[in-house]
Amino acid sequence: MSNNNIFSTKVEYLKGVGPQKAALLNTELSIFNFGDLIAHYPFRHEDRTKFYKIDEIEDDLPYVQIKGRITRKEFVGEGKGKRLTAQLRDDTGVLELVWFKGGKWVDKQIQEGVSYIVFGKPQRFGYKFSISHPEMELITAETKLEGKLTPVYHTSEKMKVKRLDSKGISTLMLTLLKNTYEHIQETLPEYLLNEYHFLPKKLAVVYAHFPKDPDLLNQAQERLKFEELFFMQLKLMATKMGKKTEKFRGQVFGKIPTLKEFYDNHLPFDLTGAQKRVVREIFEDMKSGFQMNRLLQGDVGSGKTIVAFICMLMAIDNGAQACLMAPTEILSQQHYVGLKEHADKIGVSIALLTGSTKAKERRLIDEQLRSGELKIIVGTHALIEDKVDFQNLGLCVIDEQHRFGVAQRAALWKKTSLAPPHILVMTATPIPRTLAMTVYGDLDVSVIDELPAGRKPIVTTHRTDANRLRVFGFMKEEIEKGRQVYVVYPLIEESEKLDYKNLMDGYESICRAFPGMPVSIVHGRMKPEDKDFEMQRFVKGETKIMVATTVIEVGVNVPNASVMVIENAEKFGLAQLHQLRGRVGRGAEQSYCILMTGKKLSKDGKFRLETMCRTNNGFEIADADLKLRGPGDIEGTQQSGILNLKFADISKDATVLQDARKLAEKILEEDPDLTLPEHAIIKAQQARFAKRETNWSRIS
Ligand code: ADP
Ligand code: MG
Repeated sequence: MSNNNIFSTKVEYLKGVGPQKAALLNTELSIFNFGDLIAHYPFRHEDRTKFYKIDEIEDDLPYVQIKGRITRKEFVGEGKGKRLTAQLRDDTGVLELVWFKGGKWVDKQIQEGVSYIVFGKPQRFGYKFSISHPEMELITAETKLEGKLTPVYHTSEKMKVKRLDSKGISTLMLTLLKNTYEHIQETLPEYLLNEYHFLPKKLAVVYAHFPKDPDLLNQAQERLKFEELFFMQLKLMATKMGKKTEKFRGQVFGKIPTLKEFYDNHLPFDLTGAQKRVVREIFEDMKSGFQMNRLLQGDVGSGKTIVAFICMLMAIDNGAQACLMAPTEILSQQHYVGLKEHADKIGVSIALLTGSTKAKERRLIDEQLRSGELKIIVGTHALIEDKVDFQNLGLCVIDEQHRFGVAQRAALWKKTSLAPPHILVMTATPIPRTLAMTVYGDLDVSVIDELPAGRKPIVTTHRTDANRLRVFGFMKEEIEKGRQVYVVYPLIEESEKLDYKNLMDGYESICRAFPGMPVSIVHGRMKPEDKDFEMQRFVKGETKIMVATTVIEVGVNVPNASVMVIENAEKFGLAQLHQLRGRVGRGAEQSYCILMTGKKLSKDGKFRLETMCRTNNGFEIADADLKLRGPGDIEGTQQSGILNLKFADISKDATVLQDARKLAEKILEEDPDLTLPEHAIIKAQQARFAKRETNWSRIS
């Protein structure tokens, strides 16, 4: 039998499996062949080095291991309630064991008067403890009592009934590894094994299942983790490099006369170091001859707008046009205002295109975009995507990646007669670097990780409803100093009515507490023009307090607003809290964020509030969020395959990921087609992955 074949052997041919169990493995765990079964690694190991005495058992122990003798066993109850019970006795006391299912079989396996090692989770009933469905192991002369690391495998209720519980799987695994160990092939080049002191693949696989000690388990996992991330990054990097071919030729934007003029004479402030670095990175892309696909991450207030403008000038200076697309009208409008301020200074034409643009004006815009007279267009995605023709679109800036998919990015390329436009995606929702590297592996990532000088960090505090009067007092003081205040209520779609009532009650209590004070209110049920009107009143400073649902979350810029009160703060996610807080702290004044909650908080809720009070750093918050929720909830992760990782944990293994990525990059740069002899091993493994993927698509 050839090496490849043994792992594609159907699982039912493994000794101890057979058709019935095989069918279960197929349907419950998608395990079809030997290779699949080997890759069913335990999700943890239990350290069975400790034996408990029965009188040491206490509440909240996750599991215990006890040596004892069965002194009595009997069936109790009738019909459905019928169950097998047994008494386990050691020299300190008695413990009850119970089987609600499969009692008949267990009854045959265990005998009174015989000693066993019993393993399971103790539960308290009154004064007594009992363990239901414990694992039982007969103590014989060969039983090693010094303890070991026991693998724990995922399984299902259906499987347990057929004795494919964790222990059952473990038995099969042992048989399988004995039969196939010799055939397990190395997947990393020898020079890497030496450089990183990795275990050989064979041993890593065996120890990942059955480690002799915690250190070997660790070594095995480190190697498999690295390998997993390495091959994933290799694939992503290859895709990315594949784009640097004829097909993805980009326009070359090397001339910068207007940009220089703007830079020398009109820049309203010095760029931060981070802004300068990012501008350089983008410029390198723009003149490289290949299409730029870059993600620009920067916390709220880090100054992305000016960077976007500078990049637009690079395009315009070379005879091309630029567009900026935002997810909402309000945001487009604000971007337009922000960019126009700069554009007017150097006489670059700019227009705004929204749903409320009049037909006549719209015709003019269309015409001027087609003739090339209009240089910058700002608008919502929908408007720019499908209705606009450019003379030559050279740069497309997209705000808020999260609402904008890869498919849409691709659609844009069709909009131009020349080479595809360079793409710059801006996001204020910091994605943890580790995640960005993985999810956006095909994008280059630039980060503005520095705020303009002189910004005072926002002071964040947590207050309970009992402190409401003091909070109102504080708001009053700030307003008297000439500032403005946001009060935000959560919006949970399932109970829109309740949210609305909540908001209205809040609005009324604020009107009562601040008699004569002009207060704005904005919520989702209002007509767009009414919303806009209220927003404008607040922007102009006519109203002092803005009561709102989360509609104000993105974009709005009112530098005079210095206090953000978030009601029911426990109901918001971390990313959202951070975005909301970013609405203040935009002016020179000290700003505050007050998180209001009730007294009772969940553990996660507490953690979120503590994180917010502790840091203003969007990346730290994003990392905390990742730890709390796992990568599954973060957008973009579904397609990236990071949810299929068996060993690596994106929220913890940042360094390994970085190493793996660097290595993948280095290898592909030196040997893009992996033709060097030492890389044959990598190529072989890639071929195996590819084969598995096609097999999968056939199965599902
Ligand atoms: P965001 O990254 O959230 O889009 P903006 O581009 O809106 O941030 O910038 C926030 C504010 O900071 C704006 O008022 C902008 O003019 C100002 N700003 C940007 N860069 C600098 C800088 N280097 N120095 C001082 N102020 C800056
Ligand atoms: Mg912005």
